[in-house]
Amino acid sequence: CGIVAYIGERQAFPILIKGLQRLEYRGYDSAGVALFNPAEGETEIKVYKRQGKVKELLDFSTGKSTQANIGIGHTRWATHGAPNHINAHPHISGNKQLAIIHNGIIENYDSLRMALEKEGHEFESETDTEVLIHLIEEIQKKEAVSIEEAVRMSLSRVIGAYAIVIIDKTAPDRIIAARKGSPMVLGLGESGEFFIASDASPIVEYTKNVVYLNDEEILIARDNGEFVIKNIGDEIQTPFIQYLEME
Ligand code: GLU
Repeated sequence: CGIVAYIGERQAFPILIKGLQRLEYRGYDSAGVALFNPAEGETEIKVYKRQGKVKELLDFSTGKSTQANIGIGHTRWATHGAPNHINAHPHISGNKQLAIIHNGIIENYDSLRMALEKEGHEFESETDTEVLIHLIEEIQKKEAVSIEEAVRMSLSRVIGAYAIVIIDKTAPDRIIAARKGSPMVLGLGESGEFFIASDASPIVEYTKNVVYLNDEEILIARDNGEFVIKNIGDEIQTPFIQYLEME
């Protein structure tokens, strides 16, 4: 339903919360964020999500670590799976390396899920979205490609409409986003920071410099201020490679 993401020098969490509140007018049944903070030596993506209002997510997060310069936030309007804490976004991959937020519907999620279960994947939620992040994980593992290329390859197997944003804890210098049939806006802020959202309302207070992604485009935005936008159909000659070594 609603998407906000941030990468840059500021704290992501307050930007995500404020942005999700700006998107509340769209209606939703649950809200969540994923944050990653390797600078403080953290090795796991932190996921906080709640059924109910953004206020409940905020209360739930109070007292927990919310430090991070990279984060993704979502308000969900359930299409696949009941509105509850587990089905709320973000969803993470089986290896906990990747996190995703998603607007829209993955129509062939059922056949993808069965194929992935044969490969040993276990699912926590009933959502179509969790299937997509496991598919990306599987392709990343099998093909040994960059996260952006794994996302792109996965999307060629997906039928449906989506706006997605993904973070990868082994590549915490970047955010990957893509859209097909659902809107997505990139905001270019100060000192190389980026805002990504499903409409401009969470972004306008930070920057007037926005780029609307076209349909079937994939975006990679990096914490050094670089970004690229490509057609989902075109192979990505990894524009920038710098992965964290993690055990
Ligand atoms: N289909 C996804 C779900 O049910 C995303 C729904 C949305 O657009 O919020 O979780």
